[in-house]
Amino acid sequence: MKLEGMHHITMITGDARKNVEFYANVLGLRMVKKTVNFDAPEAYHLYFGDERGSAGSILTWFEFAGARSGRAGAGMIHTIQLGVGTEAALDFWADRLAGNGYDTQRGEGTLAFEDYDGLRFELVVANDGNPPLRAWHPEVPAEHAILGVEGARAYRGRGLDADRELLTETLGFTDLGDGEYRLDGAERHFHWGYDEPPAERGIPGAGNVHHIAWHSSDADHTAWQRRVAEAGMQVTPVIDRDYFLSIYFRQPQGVLFEIATTSPGFAIDEDPGHLGEELRLPAQHEHLRPQLERLLTPLTNPRAGQRVEA
Ligand code: ZN
Repeated sequence: MKLEGMHHITMITGDARKNVEFYANVLGLRMVKKTVNFDAPEAYHLYFGDERGSAGSILTWFEFAGARSGRAGAGMIHTIQLGVGTEAALDFWADRLAGNGYDTQRGEGTLAFEDYDGLRFELVVANDGNPPLRAWHPEVPAEHAILGVEGARAYRGRGLDADRELLTETLGFTDLGDGEYRLDGAERHFHWGYDEPPAERGIPGAGNVHHIAWHSSDADHTAWQRRVAEAGMQVTPVIDRDYFLSIYFRQPQGVLFEIATTSPGFAIDEDPGHLGEELRLPAQHEHLRPQLERLLTPLTNPRAGQRVEA
């Protein structure tokens, strides 16, 4: 039994409009679902990714409107790495981000920036085998498009050996030494690494990463729940998130892990040509639609009505 890689990463934002503006209009991801936090339906849950909303491409945000900026500390993810094809793509993104008012820092094969909430990203030249997961955007040439999530880095919450056994023996990551790990699925891999925590404590708020979800085949999901429980983790029951099934557990470094299934995916309740255009509510919250449509900031998916050039 093997994990298939990373499924999605979920963050907190203080501003859903800026969220759509930055991730769909500037970074050129596709908003593939506009729904609410199933556990707190007065808050948006927005999903962005490639054209089809493939596992491995998905970044999602809960909106807590007006939330102040937080800060990553011990036991929290502090950087998300997004793949691009070439060094020329890094030049393209340095120009495009500067043109939209965002500072960037160029490193060797990397371009770092923070979003409007202060969430840190690195674009990295992804040339070690992940199949490209692109979205179409009229201003982003396909050869420069973001190609999926390559990795994530967290500040460790305890000693480096605190979760080594969980990651390697239970979840099947490869230990590369010094707190660096690699997860190899059948098609995709993912880089997971730890850094020394800063002296200052983390502050909960906008720009924080809430959790990271690993990708399980549908068939293996309940076996993962058993295996994680047998490793001593406090794991939740299987929860139906409409677009996938999930289990959650907080791992020893302090990071909230989820394991999510492939199916049914984002086309379960919308035409694949019109993902993320309508507010979708889970059946248990459909009766709240009139209140929620008044309460939630109206958001337009920039892809609505656009013709995709193949
Ligand atoms: Zn999740």
